Parts: sequence; structure tokens; C-alpha cells
Amino acid sequence: MGAPAAFLGHGSPMNAIEENRYSAAWRRFGESCSSPRAVLCISAHWFTNASAVTAMAHPRTIHDFYGFPQELNDYRYPAPGSPELAEEVVELLRPDVIELDDSWGLDHGTWSVLTHAFPHADVPVVQLAINARQPFEYHMSVGRRLAALRDSGVVIVGSGNLVHNLGRLDWSAPNAAFDWAERFEATTRAVILGSPGEAATLRDDPDYRMAAPTPEHFIPLLYFAALADEAAESAEVLVDGFAYGSISMTAFSLGMPALE
Ligand code: ZN
Repeated sequence: MGAPAAFLGHGSPMNAIEENRYSAAWRRFGESCSSPRAVLCISAHWFTNASAVTAMAHPRTIHDFYGFPQELNDYRYPAPGSPELAEEVVELLRPDVIELDDSWGLDHGTWSVLTHAFPHADVPVVQLAINARQPFEYHMSVGRRLAALRDSGVVIVGSGNLVHNLGRLDWSAPNAAFDWAERFEATTRAVILGSPGEAATLRDDPDYRMAAPTPEHFIPLLYFAALADEAAESAEVLVDGFAYGSISMTAFSLGMPALE
């Protein structure tokens, strides 16, 4: 069995410096990964018009948010990169062309969850961009081809939120959800656990437009779904819940051994 993989619902950047049910689950996931070679992260926050992979030896911590406390703006997650893994990803995904990137780094979709999963920042981290020009089928196809990396000890993490509608936030409901959000979460959960190969069809669900008015937080789940479809084992719910009505914090794991 290869290295574990996960889809983590990252929610607010504040989760990076808070301890809660979600950060505890992310930590549990990291602890289940025995001496991983590296982490390959597909983050909602690198949604761009190209296919690219971070190739620098020392990725910077990107603070891609506004209006949060200074503590968060000062936060650094100093994990090394892995130029070797970046090259491997480029080779693996041929004939698709993936650029070796030396300007991005680790955005908060990546470091807000990895700082809990791998708190010592000692596991190399590489980010794969989400190419905004490509259809869901492309993302599923890339996810399938990445599955081979799990066999060499690479932990693959998709970081987004399967319901993410910032225009509908309900500040009076910190741990609750609108009906449409609950429905879409339940539908998505059933697909991921039962027939992950069909995850791209979730865009046809009547609640999809409310759950994902823009697709970038949903697409990392497609990579995870493709990995789950390729794997011999079934995905599991790592943690679930809602934030402020219109954000699902649900996370899934794959190949995660039970801790002693
Ligand atoms: Zn986000």
C-alpha cells in the first residue's frame, strides 16, 4: 500500500494558528504517514492559467489573504521544496506540459494545513498548480497519473473546501450550514466514498452552483477522487463539519493506517 493521501477542507486561514477539531484531524493524518518522502499539494489558492509545479529548493511562505492578525502575516512554514520531485511530476504527466515554477511557493491552502500535519516542517513540499483553463476531466486524469507517486512515499494532499461560498457566509452560524450546503456535502460524500471515479459529474448536481460559485476550492477534491478511484482501498471521512453556513470543512483520507 502506498503513502496516505487526503483531501483537507482548510476553511479560514486562522485554522493555521488555532487548535480545533479540524487541526487535530490534520495532525492525526500527518502522524499516520510514516517517514514520507515528500508532500505534493494541490491547493485551491494556486488557481492559474497554466500547468506548473513548484521547483525551488526553498519555497517561500505566501500570505495570500487580507484582514487577518499580524501573527498570521508573520507566520513562516519553512519546509524545503523538492526540485527532484518537481522533475518527476513533469516526467510523469507527459505528454501534458507542466512548467517548472520558481516564483510561487507555499500558499496558505498548503501551509495552513501542513503546519498541523507536519509541524516540524521537515518533509519537503511541492505544489502543483490548478490549471484554470482545463475541464474537470483533465484534473481527474492528472490525479490518476499522480497515483504512482504514492508508491514511492509521496503523500498527496488536495486542499480546498467542497462547499465554499464566501458570498453566503452567515456569521451567526459558526458551526452550522444552509440546507443546500448540507445536501451537497452529503451527495459529495456518497460519491467520494462509493464511486469516486464519477466525481466530475458533481458539477451537474442542482446544488453545485451554490456550493461552488467558483470552482477553485472544489477542484482539489477531484485530484483526491481520482486517487481514490485508482486505489485498491476506499476513502474514509477524516473529519466533517461546517463553518458559517456556506463552508464545508469535511476532509477525506485514503490509505491511512489506524494509529496504535
Ligand atoms: Zn481557501
